[in-house]
Amino acid sequence: VSFNSARFLISASRLDECPADFGAEVAFAGRSNAGKSSAINCITNNGKLARTSKTPGRTRLINFFSLNRENCRLVDLPGYGYAKVSRDMKDDWQQHLGHYLNERQCLRGLVLVIDIRHPLTDFDQMMVDWCEHNQLPLTILATKADKLKFGQAKTTMLTIARKLKPYSCVQNLVMFSATAKQGLDEVRGILTNWLEA
Ligand code: GDP
Repeated sequence: VSFNSARFLISASRLDECPADFGAEVAFAGRSNAGKSSAINCITNNGKLARTSKTPGRTRLINFFSLNRENCRLVDLPGYGYAKVSRDMKDDWQQHLGHYLNERQCLRGLVLVIDIRHPLTDFDQMMVDWCEHNQLPLTILATKADKLKFGQAKTTMLTIARKLKPYSCVQNLVMFSATAKQGLDEVRGILTNWLEA
C-alpha cells in the first residue's frame, strides 16, 4: 500500500454508516490531544487529512480514509476524554466506539496513540485490556518524542514496555514524532504488514 495516496472516504456516527465490512482496516485511537491526527497526517504525508483537535466538527465521528489498494482503509476513531464533554456524551462515545470495535470483522489492528509525556492513562489501559481480551493486535505509538530529551524518551519507553510485557496483544511499541518525522518508516512498515497480510 501507499500511504501517500490516502483519501477521505466517509464519516460515520453509527456502525450502519460505515463502509461495507470487507477488506482490511487499521484503526487509530487515543485521548484527545494525544497527537492522533498529527500522526495520521504524518503517516499519509497529508497535512490536512485528519482534523486536528483544534478543529471542531468531525472529531466525534469515525472517519474512514481509503488507500490505493482496494478495500484497504485507515480509520480515525473519535478522541477520548475531551475535557468538556458531558457524561451522556461519554456514554455515547463509548457505545459507538464499542460497536465499531466489537463488530468490525475487517479490523486488522489498532494503533493506540499516546503522548509520551503522559504514558498509559486510564483510557489507554482500557484500550489495551480490550485488545487483550479480543486478541486484536496492538501497536503503541508514543508520540511527541521531540518534546523530551532522548534519554528521557528512552526511559519512558522502557517503563511502558515493562508495564505492557504481560499483554500478548501488544506487538509493537514505537517512539514517534510527527514534527520530526521520527519512527515514520517503522509505523508504515507495521501498517503495511497488517493491511497486506
Ligand atoms: P489529537 O487530538 O490526538 O488528534 O491531537 P492533534 O494531532 O490535534 O495534536 C494535539 C497538539 O499536539 C497540537 O497542537 C499538535 O500540533 C501537537 N502535536 C501533535 N503531534 C506532535 C509531535 O509529534 N510533536 C510536537 N512537538 N507536537 C505535536
